[in-house]
Amino acid sequence: MQLYQEQTLRISNSLTGKKEIFKPINEGHVGMYVCGPTVYSNVHLGNCRTFMSFDMIFRYLRHLGYKVRYVRNITDAGHLVDDADEGEDKIAKKARLEKIEPMEVVQRYTVDFHYILDQFNFLPPSIEPTATGHIIEQLEIIKEILKKGYAYEVNGSVYFDVKKFNEKYEYGKLSGRKLEDMVANTRELAAQSEKKNPQDFALWKKAEPQHIMRWPSPWGDGFPGWHLECTAMSTKYLGETFDIHGGGMDLKFPHHECEIAQAEASNGHSPVNYWMHANMLTMNGKKMAKSTGNNILPGEIFSGDNDILSKPFTASVVRFFMMQAHYTSILDLSNDALLASEKGFHRLMDAIDNLKDLPTAEVSNFDIPEWRQKCYDAMNDDFNTPILIAHLFEGVKHINLIKEGKEKITAADKVLLQQTINDFVFDVLGLEHKTESNQDSNKLQGVVELLIQLRNEARSNRDFATSDKIRDQLSAMGIQLKDGKEGTTFSVS
Ligand SMILES: [Zn+2]
Repeated sequence: MQLYQEQTLRISNSLTGKKEIFKPINEGHVGMYVCGPTVYSNVHLGNCRTFMSFDMIFRYLRHLGYKVRYVRNITDAGHLVDDADEGEDKIAKKARLEKIEPMEVVQRYTVDFHYILDQFNFLPPSIEPTATGHIIEQLEIIKEILKKGYAYEVNGSVYFDVKKFNEKYEYGKLSGRKLEDMVANTRELAAQSEKKNPQDFALWKKAEPQHIMRWPSPWGDGFPGWHLECTAMSTKYLGETFDIHGGGMDLKFPHHECEIAQAEASNGHSPVNYWMHANMLTMNGKKMAKSTGNNILPGEIFSGDNDILSKPFTASVVRFFMMQAHYTSILDLSNDALLASEKGFHRLMDAIDNLKDLPTAEVSNFDIPEWRQKCYDAMNDDFNTPILIAHLFEGVKHINLIKEGKEKITAADKVLLQQTINDFVFDVLGLEHKTESNQDSNKLQGVVELLIQLRNEARSNRDFATSDKIRDQLSAMGIQLKDGKEGTTFSVS
């Protein structure tokens, strides 16, 4: 008997606007796709929150005993600066500005993305496919949509015909928009536009001669539209219809709407049973945006190196802070909120430390099985982590009372209490209980990795004086760098 057979999970489905009982297509198996990052800059904290919400969801589904295939892609081509299919490719633009190859941009920020997620104790997805690795699959879908009559070719580009699609299907059903309203509210097409209608979106864009990221196609050299990669990769790894598709709220329109349209146009049926959208992170009550400076990188939180912070915070404290809000609510980050979370986090960890040595008795004053089920009920109610955390603190209260000799617990209940704490605090919420010393060694690791990165940059700029200085001074401190095929590693003597 698996836990999912005993527990009834409900999920807020963005497509229907209702909380629905979760029933996977294949019993015991879940297919979940989450739109991953476009790797052209360091991952910011708002994105981390979105991915953390789905990490928690992945963790709970696994905890319930489901075999989950979790696909989270890497967008390494096709995402243009402008959502209306104009402008430069974000990665190509960064490559041009930094005078490096687009794939160097991709490599650098993919490594950063994994490093940061690792700090936050994310579980890796089952498959992490890239857009550039699935060009053939994307071309096949375009051919199919053209064949079905829902796309048209103009001068080497292919556009999705939204108006035609809307005659048979419903464009806008996920975001609750009507095509007539969209048409009424959009400006006329720019004179140079190749699209029949402003709502149409690119499946394939012709590459101008200077465009580096290009692939051959039946319509000439070009590159895929951004929305297409997710349809190609989700279909390839999860099938034409799968259980859960997630992403940030900001992707609902147009990205996810377009994914639905592409899948329905090519396969004739809806691709996803449960659409889930995670809400955003604000900072000091305002939207986070690079342009206004109201923005923070995860590294700045770990180092405390940002004007809004009075001190550094560990990744576990930040994770705990994020788990204190429901994934569909807006969460506001501030120094005070982080300080409060840090206090709460330590209170929880102190209770866990006390748990092992609690004395046992003949009776319990606290109904552990009932409390354990309340924890499940919270998670079963659309992954309600703030309610779960409130129940965990109910447990903390009893642990402290037992320690003070004011309450009692039986040996069997103590085991169940420990089990429940382990299940929810570590497995489901993904928090880590780190001692000071291993926090310090993580910091050392981070610092040396940063120096290795700076040394690599110095070397690639042929600045050997700096690269040698970094190596020699680290060596004088007893930290040896070793260059190998897989990159540079270090050892501490
Ligand atoms: Zn996507």
